[in-house]
Amino acid sequence: MSYACFRCQRCSKPLKVSQEICAMQEGPLEAQHPASPSPKMPAAGKLEDRTSRTHHPERDRTSQESTCCAFTLLGEPSTQRTLHSIQNTILETFEIVSGQKDVDHPLCVDCMDGLLEELDAQLTLVEADTEKYKSFLERDSLVSDEERESLNAKLRAELQSLEQEEARLAQELKDMDRQHARIEAELRAAEAESRELERQEEQDLNDCAALMTEQLALTDQLSSVENQLAYAQRQLQSLSKTDIFNITFTILDDGPLGIINNFRLGRLPGIQVGWSEINAAWGQTALLLFNLSKIAGLQFQRYQLVPCGDHSYIKSFDGDGVLLLFSDGSHNVFYDNKYDRAMKAFLDCLQQFVKVVEEEEGLFLPYRIHVNGGMLEDVTGSGECYSIRTHLNTEDEWAKALKFMLTNLKLILAWASSRYYCKK
Ligand SMILES: [Zn+2]
Repeated sequence: MSYACFRCQRCSKPLKVSQEICAMQEGPLEAQHPASPSPKMPAAGKLEDRTSRTHHPERDRTSQESTCCAFTLLGEPSTQRTLHSIQNTILETFEIVSGQKDVDHPLCVDCMDGLLEELDAQLTLVEADTEKYKSFLERDSLVSDEERESLNAKLRAELQSLEQEEARLAQELKDMDRQHARIEAELRAAEAESRELERQEEQDLNDCAALMTEQLALTDQLSSVENQLAYAQRQLQSLSKTDIFNITFTILDDGPLGIINNFRLGRLPGIQVGWSEINAAWGQTALLLFNLSKIAGLQFQRYQLVPCGDHSYIKSFDGDGVLLLFSDGSHNVFYDNKYDRAMKAFLDCLQQFVKVVEEEEGLFLPYRIHVNGGMLEDVTGSGECYSIRTHLNTEDEWAKALKFMLTNLKLILAWASSRYYCKK
């Protein structure tokens, strides 16, 4: 035996059609919960009990019809279908399609109870509303026309007041909307300004960091420059105290020959000094006088000293050309003796310097210079004169003349040191 499978349309619990009702063929189909012990129609009976308070013809009709066709089985129990049941099925289908009948859905007993309770509650509310309407109608019939007119006037006044209040509130709402829009605009502007300020702040921070980096680099540079300056100042201070003449030039006149910077100037029969040494000594002597004239600001007349080591020379402005202040001993002492003329020219320059110095400072030199004869006079000693030339001269006298010249230069050197350095 097969069973039709139904489900409750509200709680989806499975429903089972009672087999006794199915066997009756023309009897009503009953839906019951599987757990329901009663195969009869407790729901239908209950429905009659609960709706018996008010008479409802349509409900009665539905209830009566539901006893025979609450659940129409289509297809499944085909072996038990009769002509009557088929006619009922077709009749119901037409009623459903034509809207003359509501579709009945299968419900379990519990859901049916719940549905009936809901309908009872709705019925109660409707009955209460009906009672209220009836009482209002009775009261309205008791009120006189004057009282009704007065009440209407009062209500119209109240309505007008409420409308005015509504208009005022609407205007206030509009104002609030405008104010809200204005504040929103201000807020957007403030937010934009805030973003701009944040961007500016970030830019300023970056600039500040770059400037601090630059400041650090400049501080390092400044410190380095200050150290260099301090070192240079110490060097300057040390150099300003340095006597460059005394350091550079050393003149010895204690022996038979005058010596400048370890080069002997002159020669004696017993002391044969090489000409290269004598030339070098002349170069040092010329360099000394050249520097002395420079520091004293003296421009020599007639001559120009050109110190050039052991090949120094003197330029003459009087047509004598270049006078060589060096020799290898092969020069002609009788004819066109340029070496003698060069030494005389040097004496001339020395005398020019001595003259300037003696006028300024009253320097006293022990050996007087006679430029024309190329002689040096021992004014403090023997009073004799010694020629600086090699022509018609002996090596002894030439060496003495050169030594006297170096002695004068030594004194001039000491004077220059005190004049230009020690006073600083
Ligand atoms: Zn149910």
